[in-house]
Amino acid sequence: MATVDLTSLRSHNDRTVLRLVRSGALSRASIAAEAGLTPQAVSKIVARLISAGLLEETGAVRDGGRGKPRMSLRLAAGGACAYGAHVDRDELRVVKLDLTGEVVSSSVVPLAPMFTPSDVLDVLAPLISVDEKVLGLGIGIAGPLEHRDGVVSPHGLPGWSSVPLRALAEQRLGLPVVVDKDTNAAVLAEAWRRPLRDAALVFVGTGLGVGLLLGGEVHRGARSGAGEFGHTTIQLDGPLCVCGRRGCVEAVHATATGAEAARVLAAAVTNLVQLLDLDQIVLSGRTVLESPELYLRAMPDVDVSLTSYGADLVPVGAGLLILGELF
Ligand SMILES: [Zn+2]
Repeated sequence: MATVDLTSLRSHNDRTVLRLVRSGALSRASIAAEAGLTPQAVSKIVARLISAGLLEETGAVRDGGRGKPRMSLRLAAGGACAYGAHVDRDELRVVKLDLTGEVVSSSVVPLAPMFTPSDVLDVLAPLISVDEKVLGLGIGIAGPLEHRDGVVSPHGLPGWSSVPLRALAEQRLGLPVVVDKDTNAAVLAEAWRRPLRDAALVFVGTGLGVGLLLGGEVHRGARSGAGEFGHTTIQLDGPLCVCGRRGCVEAVHATATGAEAARVLAAAVTNLVQLLDLDQIVLSGRTVLESPELYLRAMPDVDVSLTSYGADLVPVGAGLLILGELF
C-alpha cells in the first residue's frame, strides 16, 4: 500500500473529489457533473486517489438503466487515519478515526490533580502508534489558546501558562499535531455528521463554553478567543470564577443545581442567540448528558438538540481537525 503523501493530496480538486464521494456522489460521471470538471480530469484524480489508498471501487452500478454500468466509488476507510485527544481537567480521552471519521478505537485515562504538560504526554504517547497511514493528532483543550501556534493557557489547569503544547507533542510523538479549543473541536464533530450553518455547540463538562459555527465555518475570532462563553458575566459581584473574575456563567452555573442550573445556562444561551441570530443549539458535555431533559426544557425557542456523540465528542472533533484537511 502506498504511503499517504498529504502534500500531493491537498490540491483543491483532490479535496473536492473526496468531499463529493463522502457526500454520496458515487460514480466518476456524477462527480464530474457536480464538481464541474471534465470526465478525463476526474478519471485522473480518482486514479491517483485509488493508488494513494484513499478511494476504492465497490463494483458496477447502472445509474441510468442504459449504457455501460459505472464503477461505484467510496472512501477506503482504512486508507488513512487520525488521532484525536481531549485534555480535560480530570481525564485524557483519545480516539483513532478512520478516513470516514468513524471511531476505530477509544481510550480514557484519568489525570491526577495538578497534572503537568509532560504528565499528559507521558499518558498520551503509549496510546498513539505512528505508521504511514496516520496523518496526525488533533488535541482539544480548554481556552484560552492560540490555535495557529498551539500555545495554550487553559483556565482551570493550574500551572499551565503559555505552554507550547503543539511543539511539545510533535517533538514527543513524531507526527503532525494541531491544537484547538475543545469546543471548536466539538462543533466540528457535529458539523461532520449533519448540516449546521449558524449554530452554537454548548459544552458543559468540567468547564463551560461554546463552539461557534457562523456561515458554516468555525468562528475562532481575532486571537482564537471566540467562544469563551463560560466567562461572560451573568451576575455582577457573583461567585468567583477560575478565570479570576466574578459572576461568570461557568461560576454561577456551578453554584446552582438541577433546574436552577439549567435556567442559568438557558439565560446565557438566550443572550447568545439574540446576539448572533443562531438557528441551532447543540447541547453537550457530561453535565448536560446526566440530565438532558432538564436542559432541553429550559432552552430558548430555537432548534435545540443533544449531541449524538456522547463522551467521544471532543476527541472525535480533534481528530477531524487533521482528517478534515483532506476534504
Ligand atoms: Zn470566568
